[in-house]
Amino acid sequence: MGESPIHDIFVIGGGINGCGIARDAVGRGFSVFLAEMGDLAGGTSSGSTKLIHGGLRYLEFYEFRLVREALMEREVLWKNAPHIIWPMRFVLPYFSGGQRPAWMLRLGLFLYDHIGGRKLLPATRTLDMRRDPAGKPLKPIFSKAFEYSDGWVNDARLVALNARDAADRGATIRTRTRVVGARRDGDNWAITLEDLRSRRTEEVKARLLVNAAGPWVDHVLAEVVGQNAHNVRLVQGSHIVVRKKFDDPRAYFFQNKDGRIIFAIPYEEDFTLIGTTDRDYDADPHDVKISDAEIDYLCAAASEYFADPVRREDIVWSYSAVRPLYDDGASKAQEATRDYVLKADGGGATAPLVSAFGGKITTYRRLSESMLEKIEGFLGKRGKPWTATAPLPGGDFPATGFKAEVGTLQADFPFLEARLAHRLVRLYGTRARTLLGTARSYADLGRDFGGDLYEAEVRYLVEHEWAQTVEDVLWRRTKRGLHLSREQVAALEDFMRELDKGQSAAAE
Ligand SMILES: Cc1cc2nc3c(=O)[nH]c(=O)nc-3n(C[C@H](O)[C@H](O)[C@H](O)COP(=O)(O)OP(=O)(O)OC[C@H]3O[C@@H](n4cnc5c(N)ncnc54)[C@H](O)[C@@H]3O)c2cc1C
Repeated sequence: MGESPIHDIFVIGGGINGCGIARDAVGRGFSVFLAEMGDLAGGTSSGSTKLIHGGLRYLEFYEFRLVREALMEREVLWKNAPHIIWPMRFVLPYFSGGQRPAWMLRLGLFLYDHIGGRKLLPATRTLDMRRDPAGKPLKPIFSKAFEYSDGWVNDARLVALNARDAADRGATIRTRTRVVGARRDGDNWAITLEDLRSRRTEEVKARLLVNAAGPWVDHVLAEVVGQNAHNVRLVQGSHIVVRKKFDDPRAYFFQNKDGRIIFAIPYEEDFTLIGTTDRDYDADPHDVKISDAEIDYLCAAASEYFADPVRREDIVWSYSAVRPLYDDGASKAQEATRDYVLKADGGGATAPLVSAFGGKITTYRRLSESMLEKIEGFLGKRGKPWTATAPLPGGDFPATGFKAEVGTLQADFPFLEARLAHRLVRLYGTRARTLLGTARSYADLGRDFGGDLYEAEVRYLVEHEWAQTVEDVLWRRTKRGLHLSREQVAALEDFMRELDKGQSAAAE
């Protein structure tokens, strides 16, 4: 047996930042190995509010660099992934005597419209809420509102697609694989991995180590690398999902009495997503769970606006995640910076390590480019930045061409009902065709698990997107979990177990 190869870059963490860095690096010609201890996007990257946004709120904290960079990313990302990212209009109701005066909101929105290279997204406008349909579900006290543009993203799929593209370009992506040790061995790293399913360990060598472990970033430094450090402030944020509160395709931006804001967003066709919260967190990020106080807070805050209040019993699902914010010493969790910071050590005769702290889903591509600048500083230049104009898998159609793409899919697969065709293009874009293969009828899609989920889709997710468990399929690659009964989930579980056994037997 020959010596195992020395990779250029080893990435710890399969969240949006780890996968974005892996994709950028392999596309420039570096050899890349990425390990994720759980599922792709199993950490913070599936628990966001799912906005591709500049962050109107951050203007209050003078975060102009971050807001400008994030605003510019809106159209870049939309063009690269028009299946999973799309523009959304936000309605911001206000009234005299509210949290912020109208002139201040207008000024913020003026900056928002003008500092971020907006070309396709429409500008801000003022609404008369007594006439506009957006006023209908709200209490009649809100007579005016501003309407502005931002973007929506399927966060978990953005991660999977970055991983897919990285793998298509030659990166090794391992999930359910924890990095348990990393030591400098001369000018290389010797990294110990544990396969969490088989419990087998293995050693991999790399010239440079990237720590993109999100909320675990300090933990990795301490436990894996042996450097004690405090860089991130962990801040929990939770969301609730209720049956749809309104039919309008626009989202709401609500200002709360405590100075914070929450969003109410159309979600998965039949639901409304409401969030988020901000509270300091000090336990294991894996154990994060919405608290009773957060549920009460979100219900009360939304009920200040909706004519029909949001009640606990309306909640059909909730989720919670931990923001790994760079600790800038801010007093309140909501004021801590959302910008990212990269820190490097080593170089010369010592193998280099670069850690990423903070950041947003919105800025992952720019964070990755900055990371590549650092990497190239250590390993030498390989290629130019390339990801600004490269579509993600399935996103190779025009930004404004979503409807047309659904139409051509239906023309090529006439048995597909409009709802399923729409859903498949929303998740897989042009790759929906790979998933459907030669199917000519629903029967050709194999077992029907309910909620429009068929065997062909499950197999596609297992074969192409690293899905291994029911959770991966129902709550990250898709949100079919919102539609399946307990019995249907159990049937899917049995099927996936059989599939897994078959694959393991074939591999032996
Ligand atoms: C409530 C909330 C709302 C948000 N809303 C938005 C929003 O609307 N828009 C936006 O742009 N951003 C938003 N964000 C921010 C955004 O979600 C995060 O900045 C981003 O997801 C962080 O990604 P990451 O890759 O750094 O971390 P993660 O996604 O957590 O990835 C890190 C990964 O590292 C893995 N890992 C850790 N240790 C090891 C190890 N030893 N071995 C192997 N793997 C390991 C973990 O399992 C994890 O999957 C929000 C965040 C929260 C919490």
